[in-house]
Amino acid sequence: MPELPEVEVTRRRIAPLLVGRRIARVQTTAPSYFYLTPPDRLKSELAGRQVRALERRGKYLLAELDDGRRLLLHLGMTGQLYSSRATSVRLLSASRRASLSPEEQLVCEPDEHTHLELIFEDGEPTVRFRDVRKFGKVLLLEPGHSDPRLDRLGTDALDASGDALFAACRKRKIAIKSLLLDQKVFAGVGNIYADEALFLAGIRPRRSAQRVTLRECAAIADALRRVLERSIETGGSSIQDFIGPDGHDGHYQDERCVYARTGLPCRRCAEPVKKIIIGQRSSHYCARCQR
Ligand SMILES: [Zn+2]
Repeated sequence: MPELPEVEVTRRRIAPLLVGRRIARVQTTAPSYFYLTPPDRLKSELAGRQVRALERRGKYLLAELDDGRRLLLHLGMTGQLYSSRATSVRLLSASRRASLSPEEQLVCEPDEHTHLELIFEDGEPTVRFRDVRKFGKVLLLEPGHSDPRLDRLGTDALDASGDALFAACRKRKIAIKSLLLDQKVFAGVGNIYADEALFLAGIRPRRSAQRVTLRECAAIADALRRVLERSIETGGSSIQDFIGPDGHDGHYQDERCVYARTGLPCRRCAEPVKKIIIGQRSSHYCARCQR
């Protein structure tokens, strides 16, 4: 699932393909829960609009249009926002991949999972939003309007502070891992970077939030900012579907210490990494390095 670094990598690389360009027309698939704004309205209202800026709030992208409206995009579990010039096997369904030769896999045509395509007045490349599981979202916001999804977000996780985390932990009996996943605390944190930050800070994911000290909160916030910044530098994590808008994989998965490394030796002490379920989400940690 794309988290803050993957969305930020997407923003930085897709912005040059959006900002300053005028939308000629929009292609969509049939109406579904993917569209918070019906596809017919997207087609009629986006045509002729110029994109002024592309911002990120937590895991959301916001394209500002020249008429003051904003197009909200969320990548959900499997969303991919990319250039029509990108090629990657991650953009092909398994059956399609199997039916194509390696050369044919380099020609990228929008498939049935491509739910939004922005076609510009100046021609190629187009910008596509593909999402196999359709948990992604597209919403057109009227000028001056916001959305509860945005209003609920806490401080961006790149600005995480120990004091803010400690305040959020007071009188909370939930696991520190669950608290970190709460977007009202720090926006943009998901499973990968919560596990990694807790490992670096030496805190077990199941520890009750109210039992994490101020000093430990500072260590967690510091680790969180470091893993997020490092992941952005390396292009994000391509563990499942994520690709950069140019079709390139991220590389942070090669550096992660615990996430999805169940049974593999801890990079610090060689003890096998453990996996437990907290709040229906898998959590990975080292029982020797984390207390
Ligand atoms: Zn260890």
